[in-house]
Amino acid sequence: MTAYVLPAPQQPSLAVHGSDARFPVRRIFCVGRNYGDHVREMGSPEGEPPVFFTKPADAVVETGATIPYPPDTDDLHHEAELVVVLGRGGTDIAPEAVMDHLWGAACGIDLTRRDRQAEAKKGGKPWDMAKGFDLSAPIGPVAPMPVEVAKGRLRLTVNGETRQDADLSEMIWPVTSHVAHLSRTVALKAGDVIMTGTPAGVAALVPGDVARVEIDGLPPLEVTIGPRA
Ligand code: MN
Repeated sequence: MTAYVLPAPQQPSLAVHGSDARFPVRRIFCVGRNYGDHVREMGSPEGEPPVFFTKPADAVVETGATIPYPPDTDDLHHEAELVVVLGRGGTDIAPEAVMDHLWGAACGIDLTRRDRQAEAKKGGKPWDMAKGFDLSAPIGPVAPMPVEVAKGRLRLTVNGETRQDADLSEMIWPVTSHVAHLSRTVALKAGDVIMTGTPAGVAALVPGDVARVEIDGLPPLEVTIGPRA
């Protein structure tokens, strides 16, 4: 046993559908600009390679949670996303081999401080504090493979009203393609989590809002935005 000078931090993890055992989270990668209609609503350049950024592993939040409205923003946005989790790592994974590396999939929300992100883009600065803040990664229970990740309806409602409604088949870089791409940039490992990008319809959340994500074949995710911390 390694001796530590402080108690070692707890291992972040996700609930698993149909099991008491949990999925240990190693790293969280996110794909940006992965649906054409969202790229256009943000005024981002088109026809470029996939954009990746990260969130800390301990940013994960369970379904059913109330998330205090985060500090340092007046424009907290929802981004409904398919989340895939890896049971096996690798480098230079071929697109046709990616499905063998997946352990499961879940519904997620890439919570975003849109005002901080706009400033970062304008100033050529990092996105970290716009994307990787505390409690910025609500992720529902993981459904073990086999799960359909190439197509299926993805929907986000706020207080029952539909805000985002698209199909996974609209991804510019499908799961097989962007995971292969990511594995040429970093060594992926078991426990890695990938948030696969959001379609159009991103908008603000305010205290009291209930945001719910549903994707065909996956357990839903529902979180409440609480008062400012
Ligand atoms: Mn996103």
